[in-house]
Order: sequence, then structure tokens, then C-alpha cells
Amino acid sequence: MKKRKVAILTSGGDAPGMNPCIRACVRFGLYKGLEMFGVNRGYQGLIDDEIFPMNSRSVSDIVQRGGTFLKSARCPEFRSLEYIGKAVDNLKRRGITHLITIGGDGTFRGAKDMADNFDISVIGIPGTIDNDLAYTDFTLGFDTAVNTVLWAINSLRDTMGSHDRCSLLEVMGRHCGDIALYAGICGGAEYILVPEVPYDLDAIAQSLTKARERGKTSNMIVFAEGAGDREKILSYLMEKTGVKITTTTLGHIQRGGSPTMQDRILANKFGERAIELILLGASNRVVGIRNNSIIDENVSEALQMPRKFDKKLYDLAWIMGL
Ligand code: ADP
Repeated sequence: MKKRKVAILTSGGDAPGMNPCIRACVRFGLYKGLEMFGVNRGYQGLIDDEIFPMNSRSVSDIVQRGGTFLKSARCPEFRSLEYIGKAVDNLKRRGITHLITIGGDGTFRGAKDMADNFDISVIGIPGTIDNDLAYTDFTLGFDTAVNTVLWAINSLRDTMGSHDRCSLLEVMGRHCGDIALYAGICGGAEYILVPEVPYDLDAIAQSLTKARERGKTSNMIVFAEGAGDREKILSYLMEKTGVKITTTTLGHIQRGGSPTMQDRILANKFGERAIELILLGASNRVVGIRNNSIIDENVSEALQMPRKFDKKLYDLAWIMGL
């Protein structure tokens, strides 16, 4: 019997955990008798025919590395069926019938367009530090990103304590406040500002002033990048309280770093489920984790689910910071 041929790509923003996940897909796929291929630079590489065979050694020495050795790219052309058709032709010419895409919601939309319009099976694995996909409790890269932010909070706390400073730390997450929430509660931040929950700047100003009066001289505000106009918030709080607030923006540091244990375990389990789905003949499905169990979901349904913010954890974080 002819071996099934499977290609893997990473797309959209890179995330720690993508490398161990590529490795898991390749090694589990080979173990199950599949022929494995890599695609460089996401959908762009698929259009440009950057497809190559992979063996077990192709994924050596990447388990510990952040980023993605397959590289990632944004590819606006992939919204057009003409270009998607070109990409599918490149796969078909090699007899590749299955594709695993690791990325975020944009990547999944591209995958869906492929599987809906052409004879190709596509399985998605969630890889984004933002944790902004509703159907899964966690995405690859989120845990590593939160730990990177925690490292920054710990460092900031040292110097804040020495100089009686108030700090505002801006973290990533686009429209999702999960990085801010998880890092904030674990790092003992006094205030966590996220896009999902309205906040009362007057109350924060009053609380900052009262804290000073009580002798608490250093405070930490963790600010999610999608939570509003940072400069306006800063100047409002400084004007109201007379407290100088120093800002730190972590930026792309959060996207790198060696994947944590949690992300590597997820990478292995997601990779295993993706290959199992291919062996079952499934398509248009995305892999995830819910209540500590690995799950898979139809991609359209997954993309339509409303995202749930963990308000209970958020309320607890505020109490801890009082
Ligand atoms: P992420 O996958 O991290 O959400 P993007 O939103 O940039 O990142 O999406 C990654 C790539 O997926 C895009 O560069 C594009 O090639 C493809 N893509 C995004 N949205 C769509 C869409 N609606 N239809 C088809 N392809 C899309």
C-alpha cells in the first residue's frame, strides 16, 4: 500500500512550542508509517513550492528551541482561491494529501478555505502566545510567554522595592488579556488591566493614593496591550495621584525563549492527536485541550465559539493585590 504523505507548516505569529510540535508530528507520523514533509515560511512557502521531505533527523536538536525552524510568514495572497489552488497543486504534485498547520485563528481560516474548496485534508494545531482561541483552554506558546513575563515582573519588583517605584508593565495578547491575567496574578501585580473587563481609573488612583498613605510605596500595574490607550491612562493616574509611574514594554521578548515543560507536553500531545486524526481520515479539524483532556473540534465551529475570559481568576487577582 502507498504511504500517506503529510506536510507540516507554521504560520502567523511564531510561538515557543512550535518546534517541539513539528518534531512530535514528524516522529509520531513516521512511527505510524506516514511520509512526512516540511513547508518553509507558512502559506507563502506553500505557494512558492518550498516543500521538502523530512525524516527523524530533520527535527533533531529543536525540542528546546523557541521560534519555528520551518519559519513563519504572513501571506495576504492566501485569502484568494487562485493562490490557494496554486499551493494545493504544489502539494498534489508530490502526492501529499494531508496538511498540518500550526498557528492562530488566521492560520485556521486559511486551512478551512483550503479544505472547503480543494481535495486536501487539513488539521490545525493552535500555536500562539495570545491564548485567544475559544475552543481550547491553552495554545502552544502561552505558558512560555507567561513565564517570560513573570521573569520580567520578578526583576521589576526587585528594583521597584529598592526605589519605592510604581511600575506599569505592558504585555502582549492583542485583544486577549490572558497573558496579563496569568502573569499578573502569579507575579503579585496590584492592578491588571485587560480588554475584557472595564476598569475604573478613579478607583485605581484612589487605591494607589491610599496604598501610599498606608506606607506601601511600590505597586505594579500589568497592562494588556489591547486594554486601552496606555499613555492616556498613565498621565491620568500620575496627575491624580502625583505618583511617578515608570513604563516597561516587553514586546517581542515574549514571543521567544525555550519552551516550558507545559508547552512541550502540549506540543507532544497535540502532535500525536493530529497524526491520529489523519490516520482516521479526518479533515477540517483543530486540536486543543479542555479540562486537561486533548480534544479535537470542527474548525468552523471552533472559530465561531465566543471566547470566555476567566473572570473568577481576574477577581481573585484583584483581591490578592489589595
Ligand atoms: P495567526 O494565524 O497567528 O492568527 P494571521 O492572522 O497573520 O496569524 O494569519 C496567518 C496567515 O493565515 C495569514 O498571513 C494568511 O496567509 C492566512 N489567513 C489569515 N486569514 C485568512 C483568511 N480569512 N482566509 C484565508 N487565509 C487567511
